[in-house]
Amino acid sequence: MVLRLSPIPEGMQTAAFLSGRGVFTSVPELLQTFFPGKKPWIIADENTWRAAGKALQEMLGCSAYLPHIFPGTPRLHPEMGIAHMLAEKMPENCVPVAVGSGVINDMVKCAAGEKLVPYCCVATACSVDGYTAGGSAMLVNGSKTTVPCPAPYAVCADADILETAPPEMFSSGYADLLAKVTGGADWLIADTMEVEPIRQDVWDLVQKDLRSRVSDPGNMTLVFEGLAASGYAMQIYLDSRPASGCEHLFSHVWEMENLQFQGEDVSHGFKVGVGTLVATLLFEYVINHSFEELCSRMTPPLTREERLQEVERLAVRGCYGSIPRDAAMKKYLPPEETLLRRETACAKWGELQKKLQNQIIPFEELRMMLKNAGCPAGPAEIGLDREQFLHVLPMAQTIRVRYTVLDLLYECGLLADACKSLEKLL
Ligand SMILES: [Zn+2]
Repeated sequence: MVLRLSPIPEGMQTAAFLSGRGVFTSVPELLQTFFPGKKPWIIADENTWRAAGKALQEMLGCSAYLPHIFPGTPRLHPEMGIAHMLAEKMPENCVPVAVGSGVINDMVKCAAGEKLVPYCCVATACSVDGYTAGGSAMLVNGSKTTVPCPAPYAVCADADILETAPPEMFSSGYADLLAKVTGGADWLIADTMEVEPIRQDVWDLVQKDLRSRVSDPGNMTLVFEGLAASGYAMQIYLDSRPASGCEHLFSHVWEMENLQFQGEDVSHGFKVGVGTLVATLLFEYVINHSFEELCSRMTPPLTREERLQEVERLAVRGCYGSIPRDAAMKKYLPPEETLLRRETACAKWGELQKKLQNQIIPFEELRMMLKNAGCPAGPAEIGLDREQFLHVLPMAQTIRVRYTVLDLLYECGLLADACKSLEKLL
């Protein structure tokens, strides 16, 4: 039988992508072809074992090691300690096969990276864009950190299996794909403000087919392909910029604040989905106001000392460690440089407005798309009260150096004014 592989852009760490309906039965052949002489070692949890792991183990028979199966409940967290344990336990001459979604894949990716062993990922839910990306989102001493490690060497995504996952996992993946719309808008801003130029080949990977990929919230193969393309873009760019903008920063803040809804952690995609709505309101704020109109609302730039105090005040919840201070002060600009940035913003405002208008999905339309795909479409739906929700805007601006609309507005002294547009979501 010939393996039906989907095309992969050049220069990837990932060498094989098996995608479509019924491709799962070709996984043994995929393993033989791309990991010759290696003995498969399946890592799953009780749920993903039922969904695909058991069937794969049976297909492989005695050519595979005994699997490692985590309990199905409580929900597994991507703890660094568990990844180390997997690395320790990893049998000789094996190909680790991660059968699962985000967390299992991240942990196996991390363990395989530690042992310098190429691995295979059999996706069981269309829930994240991390399947084909390098780096693992891991909990290190309680805080989320991206641990550098290679992307999977081979990936299998069979729609028949993806469809057996709980529907909210697909909704979450759909929202993470929609986030590429606002992520792209942020990159357009960074490019126009001459902070981080757009790399066209990477941009095209994510953005060229994005609108068609999000057009049908029922088409799992299309959405998975969109998420996979984002992963490839991150592999090439060696950074998550092509797939994430300020909507992900909001999600990171809520993660650090340990956001829960009805006693459960809120999924990455659901936090990011609400983040895309917030981001869109900010882009519309830029689109709907001329620079001249906003001049009277701008607050004066802060001295280093004043800014430091502001950041300390914002981080009053105390759950962010030294991240806000480090990132915010790293990108701090003294007043005279801030005023130069404002001049650039003034000169480019019209250009920015046009580019953003072309890029974004209007707020009401985006909200309908999220609702139609079963995603939360407001802060209350993920457990945010008014105070925690409004706090996210100035907070998110402090946690990362990556230039987004938050920095544009902050440098223009408009972040507090723009925050008023968030009322639309309350
Ligand atoms: Zn994401």
